[in-house]
Amino acid sequence: MAEISQEQVERAIKTTCATVLRNEHYFSDLDGLAGDGDFGTSLATGFRVIDKEWDQIDKTDIGAMLLKISMLVSKHVGGSSGPIWGTGFMKGAMLTRGKTAISLQDLADMLGSAIEGIQARGGAKLGDKTLLDALIPVHEVLKAHAAGDQDPGATLRDAADAADKAIDETRSLVAHRGRASQVGERSSGTPDPGIVAIATILQDWCKDRGIARTPKAAEVAKATA
Ligand SMILES: [Mg+2]
Repeated sequence: MAEISQEQVERAIKTTCATVLRNEHYFSDLDGLAGDGDFGTSLATGFRVIDKEWDQIDKTDIGAMLLKISMLVSKHVGGSSGPIWGTGFMKGAMLTRGKTAISLQDLADMLGSAIEGIQARGGAKLGDKTLLDALIPVHEVLKAHAAGDQDPGATLRDAADAADKAIDETRSLVAHRGRASQVGERSSGTPDPGIVAIATILQDWCKDRGIARTPKAAEVAKATA
């Protein structure tokens, strides 16, 4: 069974910090199309702290590390994203206590638990035009590969495809949750910045692992250029 090492998880988080910091302004610009324009800054404020405190973060095992990251995200990511993203990392931490390697099935279970936690916290469901519209199809990809070929590279590529596809599939929807819901119809025709962030993070993970993949949505192409 293919294992994902703690080192690979650490590398994925470091890559995520770089993705978020590089796109601070772009993600806020996207949020400004229908929301209050704070998403990029909110996310970057938290991930900048993670990046700065990286060497001090407890790395005894994956669970300890994710727990610390969930606390930093909850504390420092602003707006509505802090509790949402913090809950996601917290759920992942709870399932990896004491582990220094995880299987694809573990990763699928972590994301499934994160999705449940985020739904409980924010009340959103599939089709509400939130980051769940990216996370739920990515979860399906993880489950399928965990039960099938167990190839981490193919899993990552298909996960990036699923999140990328979610951008265009939800573009015409009207947001029902989060700040974008307050402007109602104005959100139709604009991408959800949370979905773009997830797709961009996965595309950068592909790049970091040398997995060739061309982004489909214009936003991902721009955010990873
Ligand atoms: Mg906002």
